[in-house]
Amino acid sequence: MPRIMKKKPSKSTMLKKKKKRARIHEQAKCRFCRDKTREVDYKDIPVLSKLITSQGKMFSRNRSGNCAFHQRSFKSAIKRARFLALMPYMA
Ligand SMILES: [Zn+2]
Repeated sequence: MPRIMKKKPSKSTMLKKKKKRARIHEQAKCRFCRDKTREVDYKDIPVLSKLITSQGKMFSRNRSGNCAFHQRSFKSAIKRARFLALMPYMA
């Protein structure tokens, strides 16, 4: 995307920049570790649908906040759910 020439910052915009944004607190543990679930259930549609985009793609580990073990478990669960037509391959 072509970059448009920036306006010279006036005093009012400079003041706006100084405002600090509230940081989103990152949780230390992944959601499945917190619930102490060993394996992600492929029948648990509300949980699975929280971890996919509107297009039906899976969220990355960085985006979902899952640990490696549960991300792998989630991956196979969503593939199982897709095969059983519980989740969409794409939407
Ligand atoms: Zn975990």
